[in-house]
Amino acid sequence: MLNLTGQNVAILGAGRSGLAAAKLASRCGASVTVYDSRGPEVFAAFPQGIPTHPGASAETGAVTLSDLVIVSPGIETKGEFVQSFAINSGALWGEIELAWRCFSGKTIGITGTNGKTTTTELIDVLVRAIGKTCAPCGNYGVPFSEIILLDEVPEVVALELSSFQLETTVDFKPDAAIWLNFSADHMDRYEDLMEYFEAKQRIFAKIDADTPVVIRQGETLLALPGMPGKITTFSTEEEADWTLAGDVLQRGDEAFIDLSETRLRGLHNAENLMAACAVVEGLTPEIALSALTSYDPPAHRCELVSSEKKVEWLNDSKATNLHALEAALRSQTRPVILIAGGKQKGLDYQPLTPLLKEKVTQTIFFGEIGAALAVTFFDIVPTETTDTLDEAVELASQKAQAGDVVLFSPGTSSFDQFSGYEARGDAFKAAVLNLS
Ligand code: ADP
Repeated sequence: MLNLTGQNVAILGAGRSGLAAAKLASRCGASVTVYDSRGPEVFAAFPQGIPTHPGASAETGAVTLSDLVIVSPGIETKGEFVQSFAINSGALWGEIELAWRCFSGKTIGITGTNGKTTTTELIDVLVRAIGKTCAPCGNYGVPFSEIILLDEVPEVVALELSSFQLETTVDFKPDAAIWLNFSADHMDRYEDLMEYFEAKQRIFAKIDADTPVVIRQGETLLALPGMPGKITTFSTEEEADWTLAGDVLQRGDEAFIDLSETRLRGLHNAENLMAACAVVEGLTPEIALSALTSYDPPAHRCELVSSEKKVEWLNDSKATNLHALEAALRSQTRPVILIAGGKQKGLDYQPLTPLLKEKVTQTIFFGEIGAALAVTFFDIVPTETTDTLDEAVELASQKAQAGDVVLFSPGTSSFDQFSGYEARGDAFKAAVLNLS
């Protein structure tokens, strides 16, 4: 275990990852104080022994000397708050860096614009199927530090990594790394696309030539020391080590697993599964199949809600960017009524045009960017706008005919009208199930 005895550690952020980091740093011997700009109520879950500082600001940071600052992924690293602490500190780490330094097992890192959560879950299932203990964590929702604090620490972690988490890694070196895909996202937090890309590519920053690396064929990556690692490629579109023939995932010429024997659907999920299978050493087709027949993909990702009156209603609320929306559309084989919209994130939606022409018979846009989307696409495809999601569902039910699919794939985040994609997806499901 990492030794932080005698060190003053400032933890920024009192959320779940801040709490886990505080406990872990304390266990490593550090004197920990936790800072949050919000009120005392956010510290309710903190144990008595850990000093807390509600209402913290950049002024607090300016007068706080620490040996180490550990920042939670929800807080902007370059912002004034974090920087005011960092300037008076020996080092700045993210919670991932701390946990990784305390972990002696095998770390499989997963990043990409889309598919991280699904792939992380798949890896967890497959690693356990080959007889090792494993836990999904990181951006997956369970902080890595929480896993280290368990009584029984797993042999392997499937570590989902967001760009925000990768921004604050230092020596972090995964034992294997997956790069799923890359596309524009989070343009409300990054200055430009390059900044987002560079943060993501930090997953490879410390790898060496022997590190297994799984990359989607055709992705452009910058040369880094240690790159390319031991690369395995996958793609549903191009020649690669892992490809798709019909519904069957192929490893070279070997048929590995038939997607239709699992509950995973869509080309994007074929790619997620390729990446997961490629990274798990010792996996055989037989083990993969037995592990995956009972696996249920996570909710809110192209989830079938209803097929009443021969209309399929799909909840893809987790599609919080254009790339995910495109993936959902690409996988549709029926005429699509598309419901999309939500928060203005500064993304360019023009690239959607060919897929709208090919797949969509009607769009219904709602929320903060609804009107802007309608202006962009009204001459491409029949377009309506509504204020709310409920109205959009109602309108879709009036338009839908037997054989159609109503795809709710918002293409942006939910925070204009909802607390998150789960609440938005639940609202969609409720509205669909309420239709008479
Ligand atoms: P993440 O954790 O990266 O957000 P998820 O597995 O939660 O990824 O999926 C997020 C959204 O992206 C969903 O709408 C899903 O249907 C879509 N998606 C999943 N995998 C891929 C992929 N490989 N390529 C493009 N879109 C994907």
